[in-house]
Parts: sequence; C-alpha cells; structure tokens
Amino acid sequence: MEPSLPIDSPSLSYWHRTTRSFPHLNANRLARVPPSVQYVIIGSGIAGSLTAWELVNSGVNGQDILILEAREAVSGATGRNAGNIRPDAFRGFRAFAAKHGPEQAVKIIANERLHLEKAKEFITKNRVNCDFNYTTSVEACLSQQYTGFVVKAFEEFKAAGGDVSHIKVYHGEVAKTKARHPSAVCAYEWPAGSNHPSKLTHWILNDVIRSGVRLWTYCPAIKVVRHHEPAATAGLRWDIHTPRGVINVNTVVHCTNAYAAFLLPQLARFVTPRSSQVHSFIPTGALAGEDLLQNTLSLRYHHDHFFSVNQSLVDGTIIIGGTGTRTKRDADSVDRVTIDDSIYSESLANNTRNEFLTLAGATNETLRPGEGLDQAWTGITGITADDVPMIGPISGLEGQWICAGFNGHGMSRMFTCAPGLVKLINGHAWSTTGLPECFRYAESRLGSALHTHTAENRGKL
Ligand SMILES: Cc1cc2nc3c(=O)[nH]c(=O)nc-3n(C[C@H](O)[C@H](O)[C@H](O)COP(=O)(O)OP(=O)(O)OC[C@H]3O[C@@H](n4cnc5c(N)ncnc54)[C@H](O)[C@@H]3O)c2cc1C
Repeated sequence: MEPSLPIDSPSLSYWHRTTRSFPHLNANRLARVPPSVQYVIIGSGIAGSLTAWELVNSGVNGQDILILEAREAVSGATGRNAGNIRPDAFRGFRAFAAKHGPEQAVKIIANERLHLEKAKEFITKNRVNCDFNYTTSVEACLSQQYTGFVVKAFEEFKAAGGDVSHIKVYHGEVAKTKARHPSAVCAYEWPAGSNHPSKLTHWILNDVIRSGVRLWTYCPAIKVVRHHEPAATAGLRWDIHTPRGVINVNTVVHCTNAYAAFLLPQLARFVTPRSSQVHSFIPTGALAGEDLLQNTLSLRYHHDHFFSVNQSLVDGTIIIGGTGTRTKRDADSVDRVTIDDSIYSESLANNTRNEFLTLAGATNETLRPGEGLDQAWTGITGITADDVPMIGPISGLEGQWICAGFNGHGMSRMFTCAPGLVKLINGHAWSTTGLPECFRYAESRLGSALHTHTAENRGKL
C-alpha cells in the first residue's frame, strides 16, 4: 500500500481509556514549532520516548531535543498492544536462522532474554508505576501439528548452542494444568513479564519533559529535506516540514515504526503496516480474587492461530491478543495490510470471547452482567521483509537515524534497541550496542523487498 501518516481518528484501547489524565497527552497541540533544535525524534511511542530518555541520560541537554507526534502522545502500537514483555525463548529460531543464519538467530533470541532483565532493571530502579509483573510465560501447544513444530524448534535451537537452561517443559496432565487448557499436548515455561504499556511510556515522557525535552502532539512530520541556508544556521542539516512550521535540525531520529516509509520512501516495499487485534475482559469469579492468573499464557493452535493472555494484578483485567480462527470475514477486516486502527473484527472478538470462556470454565449464560468482553481494539504493527528491526544511521542521509520495524514485538526489544541506537548516535561502534548485527540498518537489506514475513514469526505477542 502507499506509505501514509497515521489516520486522524483511531479508536481508544483499554490502555488509553485508563490513562486519559496524562498531563502531556495533547502537549503543544496548537503551538507553532520552534525554528530550530539540535535533535528531533519523530514518534512518541516506546521507541521515541526511550530514545529521548537515553539521549538525556547520556548527557544531551533535554532542551536540545524535541519529539514530534502525529496524534496524541503514545497513540500508536505502544498504546494499543497486548501488554506482554515476553521474550521469544526458542520458537522463532528456525525462521530467523533461515533468513539470517543460525549464529544471528541465536543472538536474536539471547538478546530478547537480556531485554527482559533490562526492562525489569529500568522499571524497578526508576520505580515506574506501570503494573509490571515479572513472572513466567507458559506456551501451550494445543495441536499435534504445532507440537511437532515446537519440539523441532527447541532441539534445533539447543543444537545451535542456544541456552535453554531457563526453560521448563511439561507433558500430559501437568501441561494441561500449567496451561489452564484442556487441549494442551505439552507446554513450555520461561521468565517473562507484562505491563501497562501506556503507563510505562507516559512515565518515560514525563521524566524527559521534566529534563527539558519538548513534545509536540498532533504535529506530523510531513517531509524531511536538506537545509540549504549557509553560515547562520551552519550545522543544522535538515528541515522538517510540519503543518505548524518548519524546524531546522541537526539530528533526526525516525521512531515511526509502521509508518516509517512515509518519510523514507526507500522503505516502501520493506516495511508493511499490518493490523492486529487485542481485547480486554472483566474476569469471572474463577479468574478473580486469589485465583488471578499469576503468569502469562500463549495458547497456540498453529502459527496463524494463537492467543496471548495476561492479567493485571492491579485491577484483574484480562488482556487477550492474537489471531483467532481465520474466516473470510476476518481476512477482510483484521490482520491485514492497513493503517486503519479505528475498527476491529466482530468475528475475531467472538472467537476470543470463546477462548476467554474456556479459560474461565464459563459459558455465555453463566456470565454475570459486567463480566466478559469489555472492549476490542486494533493497532498497527510495522512488519519488515526480513523479520527484524532497523537500527542505526540511514545511509546517504547523514544525521538521520532509525529505530523502527519491530514486527509486532517491540515491547520485548526496545530496552536493548533504543540504548543501542543512542550509543551509535553518540559516536560509538556497533559492537558496543550488543545487538545482533542483522538489526543494523543497511541498504542491502532493502533488497529483500517484497513482503515475505515468515508466518512462524507473525504475531509474537
Ligand atoms: C495490537 C498489537 C499488539 C501487540 N502486542 C505486543 C505485545 O504483547 N508484546 C510486544 O512485545 N509487542 C507487541 N506489539 C508490538 C509493539 O506494540 C510495538 O512493536 C511497539 O509498540 C513499537 O513501538 P514504536 O515506538 O516503534 O511504535 P509506535 O508505538 O507505533 O510509535 C510510532 C509513533 O510514531 C507516530 N508517527 C508516525 N509517523 C509520524 C510522522 N510522520 N510524524 C509524527 N509522528 C509520526 C505514530 O503516531 C506513533 O505514535 C503489539 C502491537 C500491536 C499493534
């Protein structure tokens, strides 16, 4: 599809509805942009916010940074996701190995494990109130076919030198109990987390704004062009055009994820915006009080048919993301190439409601008024043709950087990717980032062009 800015009127997610009092939600909504600034970060999701935080904490003066956001603060995927900070422990190995070789695939997965610890450290050290639950995740294999795939992936990852020492495996009745699902053939469990992603990102924005960073909401970057005036503004290499004026800028950081190709047309065939759907449920008695789910779940029938489940230990709300059973109607309305995050699929909501009822051991008839489906919403993921994000300098555009293309999995990568990017901006070598080399932005990656995102890696929620 044609690259585009985000649509004007997205729906509100459960995360949005529960954080309407964030004081910077509509910051500078009507103000003209300042004429110049050293750093502009485009996008106020977790990538843009954390990049600003890392810049400030690496010594950059907050007043030298401005964040541009096309809609309200954190209105993209970050405020619409399924709330999981859930490392891929081994499942993606085969698909990553096919595209990037086994060594990179092992690194990608090791990086996700490290990421969980980095996220935990950030949240606990800064006492971020974001309903963070550091727990485990149970992956339930709900069909023989899927079990066969997972068993192979586990063995291949181990044989390639991948660390599986933190993964527990269950079979038979134990698997059913662990997965809370009668169809579980086997189950795998490893450390993972969940959180309220808007509260997390609002905390980060609040903190950087206190340090002098400026946020301009409802102010899309429309184009970035070379700045030609000499002497007086020397050093300011780029002009960013917005509906409320032009900003002369030295350093531009693209944190625009699914929308990256709008400003960088070379990405038009590399990054695909794709819609995903999430639901919030009010639990029944079987999932309330002392019976809250203590760990997160991934209920998997097939690569393309799965549900992620986590429950807030704060108010008991259950968040279920995933794909549900495909029907023609689903294909028409969700999980498709689009930037429309104002709609959702009724049939997918119904499939997900059935999954909730199974989990709750309930039926539609036994639900009390107020229990059950609370809300459904969608968000837009940025899918890259080679399944991994783009981090680093943009070749040919000196002073422009990118941290985008998170393939529906950015909450499980950002606490390594954003600090890595800031190291590069500050002049350090790629090796200091600790990131897998295949994450590095490179023209050569764009050659893989046509969308070939691997079904096995789709929907990592
Ligand atoms: C439904 C759904 C469920 C998900 N579940 C999970 C999960 O459980 N766990 C997980 O790890 N990941 C999950 N993800 C993925 C995760 O949410 C994303 O990878 C992550 O939030 C990406 O963060 P970001 O800051 O790069 O992107 P975004 O949060 O999308 O931020 C990009 C921002 O840039 C703004 N923008 C774009 N273009 C412009 C422009 N030209 N000018 C100004 N502003 C612009 C947008 O408005 C947006 O606010 C999910 C995603 C979706 C959609």
